[in-house]
Amino acid sequence: MTQWCEHCERSEESDSCEVCGQTLAPNEQASLPWTWKFMIVTTIIYVIWRVYQLISWLLR
Ligand SMILES: [Zn+2]
Repeated sequence: MTQWCEHCERSEESDSCEVCGQTLAPNEQASLPWTWKFMIVTTIIYVIWRVYQLISWLLR
C-alpha cells in the first residue's frame, strides 16, 4: 500500500520515508462525502418506489 509523506509531499512504498526517515501511518480512509450518502439514499428510495410501482402494476 502506498503511503504519503506530508513532510516531503511524495508517495512512499515502504512504511518510512526514504528522504526524511519519518514513519508514515497508513492513509486514513477518507470519509464518504455527505453528497454521496445523500445520492445513495435517494437512489435507494427511488429504486424501492419503482419496484413498488412495478409490483402494483403487475397485481392490478
Ligand atoms: Zn519524507
